[in-house]
Amino acid sequence: MTLLDEILAFNASFVRDRQYEPFKTDTLPNKKLLILTCMDSRLVELLPHAMNVRNGDVKILKNAGALVTHPFGSVMRSIIVGVYKLNVQEIAVVGHHDCGVTGLHSAEILDKAMAHGISEVTLSTLKNAGIDFENWLRGFDRAEDGVRQSVDMIRRHPLLPPRLPVHGLIISPATGKLDLIISGYETVKK
Ligand SMILES: [Zn+2]
Repeated sequence: MTLLDEILAFNASFVRDRQYEPFKTDTLPNKKLLILTCMDSRLVELLPHAMNVRNGDVKILKNAGALVTHPFGSVMRSIIVGVYKLNVQEIAVVGHHDCGVTGLHSAEILDKAMAHGISEVTLSTLKNAGIDFENWLRGFDRAEDGVRQSVDMIRRHPLLPPRLPVHGLIISPATGKLDLIISGYETVKK
C-alpha cells in the first residue's frame, strides 16, 4: 500500500464515521490571530497545543524558517488577505530553535539538485535570467535573526495598518516553551 492509498483509505473511514464533527467551525479566526511559523514536522501538533490553539482559532502560514522573504511574495499576500478579508487583528511570527534553515546557503541546495540530475546548464540559464539563488535560498544564522527579519518586514509593510501588533516568538521544538522576542503591543505604542 502506498502512502497515498493509506491516506485515502483512512480518509474514507474518517468521513464515514463523521470524525470531522469535533472540528466544525467557520472561516473567521476566533482569536483574530495569524501565526507565521516553520514547516518543521516537530511543530505540526506541538505548536497548536503549546499555544492553546484549536481548529477555527487562528490562521496559520508555514514555510521553511517562518520567513517573509519578499514584501510582495505569497506570504505577505496571505497576511494582507488575512488582515483585510478574514478579520486578523494580530500577527505572531513563531520561529524555533534548531531550525533546518539555520546556516542554509544556496550552494548546498544547488549541489543536491545537481546530484538529483538537474544540469549545470539549467542552473546557469536561470542565473542568466536573473534568478538570485544566493538571496532566494538563504537562511539565517540564528532563529532570532529570522524572526526579527520577518517581523520587521510585516511591520513596515506599506499596505498594512501601522497599529497592527506583530509579535516575534521562538518556540522550543522539544518542550513547546515560547520565548518572547518582540511584543507587538510595545512596538505599536511607539
Ligand atoms: Zn524550522
